[in-house]
Amino acid sequence: MPKTQLQEHIVLRNREIANIADIAVYTQHGGYETARKALTTMSAQAIVDEVKKSGLRGRGGAGFPTGVKWGFVPREIFPKYLIVNADESEPGTFNNHEIIDHNPHQLIEGIIISAFAIGANTAYIYIRGEFAYGARLLEQKIAEARAKGFVGKNVFESGFDIEIYVHRGAGAYICGEETALLESLEGKIGQPRLKPPFPAVAGLYAKPTVVNNVETLTNVPRIIEKGADWYRTFGTERSPGTKAVSISGHVKNPGNYEIPLGITMREFIYDWAGGMRDPNVPLKFIIPGGASSSWLTPEHLDTPLTWDDMAAAGTMLGSGAVVVLDESVSVVKAALRVDEFFKHESCGKCAPCREGTHFLVKVWERIDEGHGRPDDIELLSDVGRQMLGKCFCPLGDSAVSAVNSAVKFFRDEIAAQIK
Ligand code: SF4
Repeated sequence: MPKTQLQEHIVLRNREIANIADIAVYTQHGGYETARKALTTMSAQAIVDEVKKSGLRGRGGAGFPTGVKWGFVPREIFPKYLIVNADESEPGTFNNHEIIDHNPHQLIEGIIISAFAIGANTAYIYIRGEFAYGARLLEQKIAEARAKGFVGKNVFESGFDIEIYVHRGAGAYICGEETALLESLEGKIGQPRLKPPFPAVAGLYAKPTVVNNVETLTNVPRIIEKGADWYRTFGTERSPGTKAVSISGHVKNPGNYEIPLGITMREFIYDWAGGMRDPNVPLKFIIPGGASSSWLTPEHLDTPLTWDDMAAAGTMLGSGAVVVLDESVSVVKAALRVDEFFKHESCGKCAPCREGTHFLVKVWERIDEGHGRPDDIELLSDVGRQMLGKCFCPLGDSAVSAVNSAVKFFRDEIAAQIK
């Protein structure tokens, strides 16, 4: 029996509760009661400990344990900030978008609980500029929560103050990188900072700052309401919980799915997303974790969707964006398209990325246009070697993923095209 949805969603609860974006519906279903419980009956440390125990890992890409990240924040330094990374820009990723548009109050409740846990009285939602509807909606939802006394001074009469602001970015992919985001939020050019110091110690305005992804924070109310042990009934030991994953490309039913972590790529594509769009055109390759990730081929279909299993397969779970491509796709065109994106989005701060992405596009372009040179495959690999591990931030490495994947799995096709 194909399984296409969870019995119980954790973050995409809009799938089972109609109009949950409406504060009346959200509160009817117990909304904001967990924040009330957390702020009035639990200590900040108890919340951090419960989130640590749940094993919740950051959903933005890196998969770093959330409770551990919170634990790095020095308690005695004020003010502190909580930043919500809503700059969802990874090609193929659109799961945060659904949470923002359709389950915003659970995100806001997660912000309130998390801000209390780290001792921050101010939270900024840094939202991708193009999400104009989502930005306006969040402002409206925060105002609704404020009118009920859930946001502002002395919330739930707990003595805790929390202000939440929505800040729109200007459409730069690099501002999804947490330190570039902080620069942008401070009104500067959005370029990454040198680390250390890490944001937990010196982040926004050089104060302790936690940057968490939208989906990560949307998990928090359910973890505190139902407990870490309940949360761990989903997923695997080292990748507990669920993940909202966007699937696109040549599948029958593209869209967002909240999956229990640990199902295989095969189950996800064929049972959940309906299989290949045209069953007569076989699967060629998968970009499994956004454009930054290394590709997988049909031989990897039994890889479980967890952080560790994807890493063992040479790629990453990333932001939860699976792009499925069939045999009709030209590998050269696909790699060119990915590297054009990174060339466009390179912030220009460091030479290996600024120049390297430019060279990669030039070489892919000439192969695509039929002017490839005999040593172009070696040239692509060489430019990749000059970039990998030598760029200032992960964007440079990301641009190399498509090159190395294409050369590793489809060298003959590229060589034939050059010939
Ligand atoms: Fe900017 Fe690219 Fe260097 Fe990152 S790797 S700092 S995006 S130029």
